[in-house]
Amino acid sequence: MFSKKLQNLHPYVPGEQLPACNYIKLNANENPYPPAPAVSEILSAFIKDKAASMSLYPDPESADLCKALARMLNESGGILNASAKLPFNVTEDMIFCGNGSDEVLSFIFYSFFDADAPLILPRYTYSFYPVYGEYYGIPLKRIPLKPDWSVDVPTVISALKEPCSGFICANPNAPTGIALTNEDIEAVLKNARGRAVVIDEAYADFGNTTALSLLDRYDNLIIVRTFSKAFCFAGMRLGFCIARPEAVSALKKAKNSFNHFPVDVLTQCAGSAVCKNWSYYADKASRIAADRDIFKNELEKAGWTVLPSQTNFVMVKKGKPEAPAEFSGAFVYKQLKERGFLVRYFEGPDTGDFVRITVGTGEQMRLLADIMLKM
Ligand SMILES: *Cc1c(COP(=O)(O)O)cnc(C)c1O
Repeated sequence: MFSKKLQNLHPYVPGEQLPACNYIKLNANENPYPPAPAVSEILSAFIKDKAASMSLYPDPESADLCKALARMLNESGGILNASAKLPFNVTEDMIFCGNGSDEVLSFIFYSFFDADAPLILPRYTYSFYPVYGEYYGIPLKRIPLKPDWSVDVPTVISALKEPCSGFICANPNAPTGIALTNEDIEAVLKNARGRAVVIDEAYADFGNTTALSLLDRYDNLIIVRTFSKAFCFAGMRLGFCIARPEAVSALKKAKNSFNHFPVDVLTQCAGSAVCKNWSYYADKASRIAADRDIFKNELEKAGWTVLPSQTNFVMVKKGKPEAPAEFSGAFVYKQLKERGFLVRYFEGPDTGDFVRITVGTGEQMRLLADIMLKM
């Protein structure tokens, strides 16, 4: 009774979701801090005063939430700790919301990429992209990373000169944590010959760059964001993208052909409250970035290689950058799990030496560094 399509799927495997009470969970890049107090208050008030609205369908376009998101982006400068204002105003018709950014990505794959030409992406990037490629029958052209683990932009640009569906990449990239510059992204946009360039900025709020300012000049740029990492909201499921209004209309057409109501009333309400309280999250993101850099320094002193991260996670291996690691990622994972820390490892010829560690609270990272310094 099962379709051939289904039999050929290889689903995404997320980080283990074991009971948080038994482990310090540093394996899915979740935020260690609770949401802003105002968000919990809004949720309590909703249940007390507005519970009746649960009987009705939510706003299919999340209009109030899109307004709140646009206001936050304009006030903050596009990311939580931006150093400058955006060169233009983000308007609500440039925002599309979905049930987590994974769902937004699904609509993006459907709306912009075709089955008759390959989608270009780095060999190592968010591992959900190949899963969607398979789901939608879009062939992939995977470009190896450079020896320093950064994205090989010149090779991406040559690939764009052949017939293709477009380009997708997480920036900063996952699982490396390394970011491309806006000059690199602009070079990709210029060479994409009108095909979509999707920049997944799931982690941009922990760094200091966003490609948002390029939306002014490139109508083929789609920027994807999630509430799951910097906004302490992974359990609520909210993601969005920012693009030109024509691209947002295309995504709405795809959404309305699949699920009219991806964002529920409670999430729309709490999501708007998150936006109004963005400075709380800016403070947490800069604290996480500072704890990340302290952790990196400690580990490097003890002979670990730590890739230069602009995110809330680090990729690490024991030993020198060019040399084979002293332990496999699987071994480090197992040792740390026995000591109560859950991290993530990736099988494979290039990534097998590494573990990826989410940056938790300062206290959690001190405890973890104590263990790793003795390994
Ligand atoms: C975590 C993550 C996502 C998924 O976010 P959700 O909003 O929780 O679905 C998407 N892209 C990247 C690169 C991520 O790391």
